[in-house]
Amino acid sequence: MILLDGKKTSSDIKDEIAIKVAELKQQGEKTPHLAAIIVGNDGASRTYVNAKVKSCEKVGFNSTLVELPDTISEADLLAKVEELNNNDDIDGFIVQLPLPKHIDEHKVTLAVSPAKDVDGFHPESVGRMMLGLPGFLAATPAGIVELLDRYDIETSGKECVVIGRSHIVGSPMSVLMWRNSKIGNCTVTITHSRTKNLAEITKRADILIVALGKPEFVSADMVKEGAVVVDVGIHRVEDASKKSGFRLLGDVKFDEVSPKCSHITPVPGGVGPMTIASLMMNTLQAIDMK
Ligand code: NAD
Repeated sequence: MILLDGKKTSSDIKDEIAIKVAELKQQGEKTPHLAAIIVGNDGASRTYVNAKVKSCEKVGFNSTLVELPDTISEADLLAKVEELNNNDDIDGFIVQLPLPKHIDEHKVTLAVSPAKDVDGFHPESVGRMMLGLPGFLAATPAGIVELLDRYDIETSGKECVVIGRSHIVGSPMSVLMWRNSKIGNCTVTITHSRTKNLAEITKRADILIVALGKPEFVSADMVKEGAVVVDVGIHRVEDASKKSGFRLLGDVKFDEVSPKCSHITPVPGGVGPMTIASLMMNTLQAIDMK
């Protein structure tokens, strides 16, 4: 079994980006600038946003963190988005999800300028991905593609099963796996909460991508011998033995599934760091989108 080491791969990618940014600066070009809006005080969201800001520092980007209270109105948040759209110094920005219940996430996603949509959530970005046109790819699925590529995983003609159909992970992931591209050309089955006989389907998978958001849901009897398993799930579970008071689990029972796999991502240290690397790649791409 080979561990798909997202932490190391992400660090390699950030080193490569840092070299490109240093070259840009040397040539007197603009320093890429990523902004992030965070609404409220959700612990997990804060951790993700802080990691993104830290990565900006590592690669030499400028970064701006816009912190807003969870009492902010939808109109005021949309005004903030518009402000970032019109700020020429900011090349790309994200609005960290989830948002408080009184704010319509779709409205906010639609308000982000497609030219600055480094999370790849805007319908224009999604449409471009479907058509195979240049544009921003959703950060998590794109990070997974990059990881599979760097480990030389053969995908062409393989059976790929995706568990989960969310707009940010499962759906775009399925598209990237069927696209006619180096990582792609799979025969893809997308499964969801209404799928019957899930284990019968997942056992067909040469490549199994798990993004349903239920801790340790996938057990060894759901996985084919020799499969490549990508675990997108992240869950904090209480653990008094840890300094932080919690430990992280994925959607896959790693201990029993990993011995059956040819390759598998760990949690933590798999998909999470690749999502951040992907965001950095999208931001670098954003300087050419204006
Ligand atoms: P989501 O809740 O939006 O979607 C979950 C999907 O799973 C839904 O489409 C649902 O139909 C499907 N599902 C639920 N129960 C199922 C079942 N029993 N069988 C089959 N399908 C089922 O979740 P999401 O935003 O796609 O995130 C999924 C997980 O990935 C979460 O744990 C989340 O925290 C994590 N995540 C990680 C990263 C990262 O960078 N590592 C990024 C995004 C999300």
